[in-house]
Amino acid sequence: MKKYRYYAVFNTVLLALVIVCFGTAMNAGLAGAADSEDDAGFFVNGQRYADRTSYLLSDAFRKAGGRCGFDRHRSGRSERMPDSGKHPSDCPAEWSTNLYEYQVDSLLIIPVWVHVIRRLDGVTGEVSDALVNSQIGVLNEDFRAIPGTAGQNGVDTGIQFRLAGISRYNDDCAFSDKSNECMKGMQKDPNRYLNLYTKYISGYLGYAFLPQTDAGQFYDGVYIDYRYFGRIPADAYPYDRGRSCTHEVGHYLGLLHPFEGGCVSCVKPDCYENSDFICDTNAQAEPLYGCLDADGASPESCDTPDPYTNYMNYTDDACMDRFTAEQAQRMRCALIHYRPLLAETSGGTSTDGRTPVYRFYSEQLQTHFYTVSENEKNTIIATFPDNVWRYEGGAWRVYAGTQTGTVPLHRFYSEHLKRHLFTIDENEKNTIIATFPVNVWRYEGIAWYVHAGQSDGTRPIHRFYSEQMRSHFFTIDENEKNAIISRFPEDVWRYEGIAYYAY
Ligand SMILES: [Zn+2]
Repeated sequence: MKKYRYYAVFNTVLLALVIVCFGTAMNAGLAGAADSEDDAGFFVNGQRYADRTSYLLSDAFRKAGGRCGFDRHRSGRSERMPDSGKHPSDCPAEWSTNLYEYQVDSLLIIPVWVHVIRRLDGVTGEVSDALVNSQIGVLNEDFRAIPGTAGQNGVDTGIQFRLAGISRYNDDCAFSDKSNECMKGMQKDPNRYLNLYTKYISGYLGYAFLPQTDAGQFYDGVYIDYRYFGRIPADAYPYDRGRSCTHEVGHYLGLLHPFEGGCVSCVKPDCYENSDFICDTNAQAEPLYGCLDADGASPESCDTPDPYTNYMNYTDDACMDRFTAEQAQRMRCALIHYRPLLAETSGGTSTDGRTPVYRFYSEQLQTHFYTVSENEKNTIIATFPDNVWRYEGGAWRVYAGTQTGTVPLHRFYSEHLKRHLFTIDENEKNTIIATFPVNVWRYEGIAWYVHAGQSDGTRPIHRFYSEQMRSHFFTIDENEKNAIISRFPEDVWRYEGIAYYAY
């Protein structure tokens, strides 16, 4: 039987891009180690390795600083003035100060636009929607230190990521890493989206640009080699847990490597003015690859334990599991001052009473699920594998409790259909309760509170129904809405109009 699946994000937006390649543009001719792979092995600059992992574990890879191309791509531009204009930045490119003012007291949600750049054949470089979603999942686990995930040991930075869309391109020039000029025209508004590119990158797993010097530039964004992107990409050991992206997003939000400057003073306030401008990451003599020492002890290159588990180190993906409190503060500072329009919401539950609605997708059950409960969210993430329930991040924001002008959103569950139903319509609610036995539709109470009509700052939440899947789908994303309407016949996904208004 043919099964339809609504892609959580509209996929395969094939853009016929005519892009002129400027061979001498910025970042052109990067001195990386070009590689190729065939049945005989993995080749880098003529040197043969048995396979890709053998190369990734080799001295040649480590000596070339292959983990991260950030230093190589640093623009050397002088610092821009902070956009906020209200007060001088506490986190410029050369120091940090007053980081305590950037405590994690609210949720900052960053919309991510993923650009999958493939070779002209449309095959090489392909990254599936599932892999994209898994990478967003890894970012959220790591930046939110979600309990029960590999990121749980870190600090919750209060920074969260929401997949806003995926674009795909078949473009040899952009794919082959010759110049960022080749990607001109692909970028979504860099002030409002984290542009995340997957492509071939010679010599490095990824790179990114600092907010202090490069925010808003045409190349501003995060670049990850497609072979190291997502949760458990094939043959990528030991860089196969999606942490290249976590590391590069750290740069994109203003963090540096803890080994910058070598064994420098870790005494305050010196440590705010040297190395990575953070005092709770110990100094480290040089990039650290692998993980623990052979004897299982923490390496101590500067007489203090090296921060070998830090995401901004060069250790194996499975070895790194944390940002520190001050890294979280420096990133939040950089977001506020240098990327002031990027985070969609700065309220979270602490200031304006609005809380994110978390969205899940089940490949198995062919339905989405939404909740505002942190516990429910964390339990689902901890309990189910990705193919049963995959976490898709924060979708929009609502009130968890009643507020002036809001109405309750009612939640039903069907044991029979294994689906939830949400409605603000009191008649619909009462009809369902009167019509169906509880094993068909059981009323579960009020899910959260929303606006029935447009009001200040709200946006419509669109509702779709699939007769085939017997499931509803909701989205705040106009692009997603339009893509569904244009892609699917009505019996697969029928647009039912605006369900309610939220933030
Ligand atoms: Zn780096």
